[in-house]
Amino acid sequence: MPTPSTTSDEYLPSMEGNCRSWKRWARWGAALLPSPMPTSPSQTIILTYHRIIPRTHLQGVYSSPHIIVTQESFRRQMDILRNHYHPLSLEDYVTARETRSPLPRNSVIITFDDGWEDNYRYALPVLRTAGLPATIFLTTGCIGTQHIFWPEEIHFLLHHLPYVRDPALRTLTAQAGIDANSWIEAEETRDGWSFIERLKSIDDARRTAFIEALRAHTHHPSFPQPQHAFLSWMQVKEMQQAGIHFGAHGVTHRLLTQCTEEEVRHECRQSRDTLTNETGIPPSFFAYPNGDFTPEIQRIVAETGYRGAVSTRPGKNNPQTDLYALQRINMSESRLLDPLGRFSPSLFRHMLS
Ligand SMILES: [Zn+2]
Repeated sequence: MPTPSTTSDEYLPSMEGNCRSWKRWARWGAALLPSPMPTSPSQTIILTYHRIIPRTHLQGVYSSPHIIVTQESFRRQMDILRNHYHPLSLEDYVTARETRSPLPRNSVIITFDDGWEDNYRYALPVLRTAGLPATIFLTTGCIGTQHIFWPEEIHFLLHHLPYVRDPALRTLTAQAGIDANSWIEAEETRDGWSFIERLKSIDDARRTAFIEALRAHTHHPSFPQPQHAFLSWMQVKEMQQAGIHFGAHGVTHRLLTQCTEEEVRHECRQSRDTLTNETGIPPSFFAYPNGDFTPEIQRIVAETGYRGAVSTRPGKNNPQTDLYALQRINMSESRLLDPLGRFSPSLFRHMLS
């Protein structure tokens, strides 16, 4: 069985192809220029994090590079926020919006999606030391379970294919209604992220059947679950006592735009009830899985009792921004590295400008 070729050294460069690509140089160059749009006092930045992992622990991690920030880089980012910005909790921000109170200049909100166990292990100590507020949006059906998100599993199985250009797998993609060329590209490069994006648009039953066939084809390799663990409810409670806020991110992480109205109501209500029962506090905010929503879904989220919801639409928030479509800036390690592969404070501040 082939072993993953990813190592901690090559992981970061592989995040966006060649780390010394012109893109990185271009970003770096742009960050050194004066910002064309200085942050206005009425604009608030909401940052999205997912996974925080020490650089030396990246081997065997099959999550998308777009959801990973190393602990070393995260620590430096939090120092910058503490020293040069005005960190707020999401609660304080929405209260200020509701009461039309002025917001401080350079206000920034820290959020995490999904509920990864590394948030407890590696992000919490940094947040505690820096004294910063944060909200973690939990996929409640995953908390305290051995659940594995299907994109991680597909990426893992891709690294365990016995050989590439297997006609049987092309048949499987055709049966699932997926363009075979996207699979061939994923097989040959062992980079499945664009293929995985396509799989998000097919229905659950066909995707599950495809993954099951892929498991059988690769002889059911053992997934490195510890590197992809979710928080336990005990950890959630400990974090809550340390001042972390929790919001809901649905029960199953299903894309709500692919659910029936009844299923959307269930995802919103059940995740709220579970969080209320486990933490003693009803969650105030919701994060749309994959950032996907419609006006109808917004209405259901509001009717369920949430005070607001965050999306993945990139941008800052002003007093007119819909409280059920708050915009965020996604943080990933690969976007914050200078041309030599080191964390760049200039790039980080440029992303926030
Ligand atoms: Zn998510």
